[in-house]
Amino acid sequence: MTLCGIGYDCHRLAAGRRLVLGGVEIPSEQGLEGHSDADVLVHALIDALLGAGGLGDIGEHFPDTDERWRDADSMGLLGEVLGLVRAAGLQVANVDCTVVIERPRLAPHRAAIRVALAGALGLPSERVSVKATTGEGIGFVGRGEGVAALAVASLHQPA
Ligand code: MG
Repeated sequence: MTLCGIGYDCHRLAAGRRLVLGGVEIPSEQGLEGHSDADVLVHALIDALLGAGGLGDIGEHFPDTDERWRDADSMGLLGEVLGLVRAAGLQVANVDCTVVIERPRLAPHRAAIRVALAGALGLPSERVSVKATTGEGIGFVGRGEGVAALAVASLHQPA
């Protein structure tokens, strides 16, 4: 049996914040605003994993009203979610992610993000896809106001 889940997230860009995507800090004049480290890619991935497992959503598990999650390392949250997935008797088969960002260009960082996510997920990197596209100068991404990310995850139940 294969289960699939979808995740989406967006965060606002702001001066004086770090830009962390997939656990990798990317050199940038602006970073993402949020209660945690605002790793929009990991947040989308967490929702895809929770969705596939029928395990709720990120806001339910890590509410942004909770001081425990202030400036939280989202890769740590991903680890907790993997624990929930495994406790439900499920294994991650593959994940596929798209970051929608106007600048900086992600191409030079994609390989590092893929390695970081594969390590966190315990998957070979060919089962972890990280893609990037721009907002084509339109919408909140295109105007440089924020960054969005989408992810799908598939889980399987070992026989
Ligand atoms: Mg988020």
